[in-house]
Amino acid sequence: MKETVRCQCGAVYEREEHLTVVRWRDPFNCVVCGREIEDWSRSRRAIFRLIRRPVSLPVPPQG
Ligand SMILES: [Zn+2]
Repeated sequence: MKETVRCQCGAVYEREEHLTVVRWRDPFNCVVCGREIEDWSRSRRAIFRLIRRPVSLPVPPQG
């Protein structure tokens, strides 16, 4: 099952869920802004693939 997930920064990911017997405990963080998109503490594993980057990146504070 595939679906698209949009991060608050505007990045779009394709999310594909897999059933697994291995408990997968690492959260997935957005590769663009670092925000946690999903914390899978359940016995489910989802693979995320970046399909679209945000148009404009947030500018970090200077100085
Ligand atoms: Zn993001």
